Amino acid sequence: MSYQHQYADGTHIHFPLGKVVCIGRNYAEHAHELNNPIPTEPLLFIKPGSCVVPADGGFKIPAERGAVHYETEIAVLLGKALSTQPSEEEVLDAISGFAPALDLTLRDVQARLKEKGLPWELAKSFDGACVLAPFVAAGTFPDLTDIPVRLTLNGEVRQDGSSALMLNPIVPMIQHMAAQFSLLAGDVILTGTPAGVGPLASGDELVLELPGTLRVQTRVL
Ligand code: ZN
Repeated sequence: MSYQHQYADGTHIHFPLGKVVCIGRNYAEHAHELNNPIPTEPLLFIKPGSCVVPADGGFKIPAERGAVHYETEIAVLLGKALSTQPSEEEVLDAISGFAPALDLTLRDVQARLKEKGLPWELAKSFDGACVLAPFVAAGTFPDLTDIPVRLTLNGEVRQDGSSALMLNPIVPMIQHMAAQFSLLAGDVILTGTPAGVGPLASGDELVLELPGTLRVQTRVL
C-alpha cells in the first residue's frame, strides 16, 4: 500500500515521506518494563520511509518471525529542513503536525540483536513496521510538553502516556537529532513509547488516540 502524508481533515500534505527518526527508551517506565537501563544520552535509530503504512483500513504484521510488539508513540511531522544546531524557535517553526503512530518491533529478533550488540534494523525496518495515523496541525498543541497519547487494544487501554513523561522532551530531542544528521521536510520523528508494550495478533482491534484531539481505529489484518 502506498503512503502519502495527510492531515486528519483530509488536507493533502505536499512534501514526500522521508525517513522516520526514532528515539528508544524515552520513558523511564518503558525502559524498566523491558529491563533496560535509562540511556545517558538519547538512543536514536532510523526506520526507512519504505516501512511506513497508513493506519486506515488495517495493517499486516510479519508471520513466523517471532513476537511483533506494538509501541504507541507521538509522531511529529517536519515541514522544514533542520540541521547543525537549530534553535528552539527553528524547531517549533519546522513542526507541521502530530499524530499517533505505531513503532512495530520484532521483539524476539531485537532481543537477539541486543544480546550481540548488533544494530536493530532487522527488528525495526520490515515493510509495515511504522503505522502512521493522519496528522493534526502543529498549532493544535500549544504546549509540546503535555501531549497525551493512548492505545486501546481489543477494548482495553494498554498504553496511556503523555509527552510530560518523556526523558528527552520533543524540542530538545529534535535539536539533538538535527545535530547528528540533517532532518528534511517530510521526515517523521517517533518520540518513544510509554509503558505497556505487548504483542499483536491477527484480528486485533486497535484505537490510536491523541486523546481529546484525534481518534483512529485500525486492525491487524
Ligand atoms: Zn519505539
